[in-house]
Amino acid sequence: MALHLRGPVLLDDERTAGQAWVVGDRITFERPHEAVDGVLDGWVLPGLVDVHCHVGLAAVGAVDAATAERQALADRDAGVLLIRDAGSPSDTRWIDDRPDLPRILRAGHHLSLPKRYLRYYGRELGSPDELPGAVREEAARGDGWVKIVGDWIDRDLGQAGDLRPLWSDALVVEAVAAAHAAGARVTVHTFATETLDALLDAGVDCLEHATGADARQIERIAAAGIPVTATMLQVDRFDEIAAAATRYPVYAARMRAMHARRAEHVRDLVDAGVPILVGTDAGGTITHGRLPDEAAALVAAGVPAADVVAAATWRTRAWLGVPALSEGAPADLVVYPSDPRRDIGVLAAPTAVVLRGTRVA
Ligand SMILES: [Zn+2]
Repeated sequence: MALHLRGPVLLDDERTAGQAWVVGDRITFERPHEAVDGVLDGWVLPGLVDVHCHVGLAAVGAVDAATAERQALADRDAGVLLIRDAGSPSDTRWIDDRPDLPRILRAGHHLSLPKRYLRYYGRELGSPDELPGAVREEAARGDGWVKIVGDWIDRDLGQAGDLRPLWSDALVVEAVAAAHAAGARVTVHTFATETLDALLDAGVDCLEHATGADARQIERIAAAGIPVTATMLQVDRFDEIAAAATRYPVYAARMRAMHARRAEHVRDLVDAGVPILVGTDAGGTITHGRLPDEAAALVAAGVPAADVVAAATWRTRAWLGVPALSEGAPADLVVYPSDPRRDIGVLAAPTAVVLRGTRVA
């Protein structure tokens, strides 16, 4: 039995196929011998990718399996069929045995220090010196990624409390080298300007938020070809975070300033040639299933819709080493009534979601 996708089928930046078929759990562009028992009309895209998502995490920290399942289902039903998990306190390995849930590439448990990140979220090391060893452990637990919290408010500074790096420059170098030696790539949570040069010197592979990047650092990021997950939904919250930080006026002012410049900042990154990734930062305060909202926010900020769609699909799949829609690839795809490169809003209303060849939504 085969499912006929009457197309158009978007393959990459240049190529579009007129039609395709799903046979078993695979996609083919050759008319199959099997009888066609279903038809889907519309624009066919590879399953969306959320590169900054936390499955198994909520505002209270680790959640039970039933909650993690609901999170993964919400992402899936929004068309997200591939997640790069940006750190989770839960063991979600069981999801790999569930054909009805999205594929996940994990970064293990994200690495932080006591009082230097959201409580209950990260793996809090007893001492900064433990970072390289912990990186090796998380690389072994994950799926090719390690996530480090690069900076956070230092409340020990009292009234002068502000964003500060968690680790010395030398430790960052050691940690990134340890990840690379273990065959893992490194992404880093960073809001602060002060953190970025050390991260770039150390050769990190990806940056989360990067709201503190100044013009010179943006040039460095672009020259190194490092992608940035802009997390518009998260940065939209910076004014709320500032409002809650009444005891830390310096920090609050910095968060407000970054909030005010958020759209301009993303345009600066794009203008410099930095690849922008699409990540919701769901898990914690942002609910799962909001990738269409994140994509729309990027377009509203001035990122071309065609680039947002490519980043949410084939470009990022290639970067993560996961196929898009090529002959014989897993049939992980989403169908839309129109071309989201012309109207990004259509991502919020998929006609069908097909995962491993089975229509799931
Ligand atoms: Zn996050």
